Amino acid sequence: MKIHIFIVCCFIFSLPSKSQRCQAGQQFIHTSDGAKLSPRDQTLYVQTVFHIISEDSSHSISNDKIFQQLQILNDFYSNRNLSQDPTLPEVYRKLAACPKIHFCLANMDPLGNPTTAITKTQTTIQNIGCRQNMTTYFVMKESLGGIDIWDPAKYLNIFIADRADCTLGEAVLPEDATKSKDGIIIDPRFFGYNFLHSPYHLGLTLVHEVGHYLGLLHLSPNENCSSDDGISDTPIQETNYRDCPEYPQFSCGNEAMVQNIMCLVDDYCMKFFTKGQCERMRTVLLTQRANVTMNNCQSQNIDSKDDWRIINIYDGWLLKYQGNPISALHYKLFNINGQLIHHHTFRDQQTFYIPEQGLTLPSGVYIIELNYENRYSVLKLIH
Ligand SMILES: [Zn+2]
Repeated sequence: MKIHIFIVCCFIFSLPSKSQRCQAGQQFIHTSDGAKLSPRDQTLYVQTVFHIISEDSSHSISNDKIFQQLQILNDFYSNRNLSQDPTLPEVYRKLAACPKIHFCLANMDPLGNPTTAITKTQTTIQNIGCRQNMTTYFVMKESLGGIDIWDPAKYLNIFIADRADCTLGEAVLPEDATKSKDGIIIDPRFFGYNFLHSPYHLGLTLVHEVGHYLGLLHLSPNENCSSDDGISDTPIQETNYRDCPEYPQFSCGNEAMVQNIMCLVDDYCMKFFTKGQCERMRTVLLTQRANVTMNNCQSQNIDSKDDWRIINIYDGWLLKYQGNPISALHYKLFNINGQLIHHHTFRDQQTFYIPEQGLTLPSGVYIIELNYENRYSVLKLIH
């Protein structure tokens, strides 16, 4: 049955209210007509553009913030390893899967000119990120105060624009996409790490919305036991849940999947996609959204965790860069509440002890931002 919803919104705005990497194997996804699409272990690359639209000419979103959110997105879509995650119940660790989708900044704009894939537009329209009269996307049209959407058949357009009067973000489902209406809109307060806006402060709003863009619904689309999301390995549940419910929860005679990314729980509680959800997203990307894929990421000044070998040591971490020695690396170490714990600049090294001074770090989750040689990387580590 085709489930048709005009738009999927995420998170009612009421502040404080995925194993061995991906399983390898030459398995193929099949469409309903049996066409062979792509091996499951083959990464799919998505050509992406970020449009920042703001009343403030200085714009609150820096390029580094874009890189940070992109890395969070790629961590969830192409770089997840949840088999040993102590914060995830064992039953979820077994169900968790990785879609193997990587989001890349576009290299060319629609006219074929080189681009950073980050556009900045000043507007006079308040809350331009919200739909007007429920139907019109001002943000996607220059004549209405936004920017003309880049051909959505070829680019994933992500608009960062004020949404004070609506939800944190929204996405257009593949079956509702048109030439002038597609992509994702997200409020800047919930973009990337933003510790002032807990519990939506870890960049999960975009991770959730991309799920919608790639054809996923909430686990409980109509918030009752009579509807489901059309995915075989997610349970029917009465509600999408909010906050961060204690495990386990039961609903509609099933064990609910409260830490699924397509629930509405707090950022730190949103953890995984199932295998069925991953297959749905890859199938959408290879059929309805096939032209947004590209061969690979090129000219990206963003590193992945793969560029670093990370070893836990008793008072921090040993980071070893896989490339040549770095002439100057500046790091900032934050705790999960966003407090800066330490920062330092290293010179002409390849191996880095963080924190550089012997500090006693309590157990917990930490975030390290690395800036070096015009590159940027953010690591989320457990100590
Ligand atoms: Zn949603």
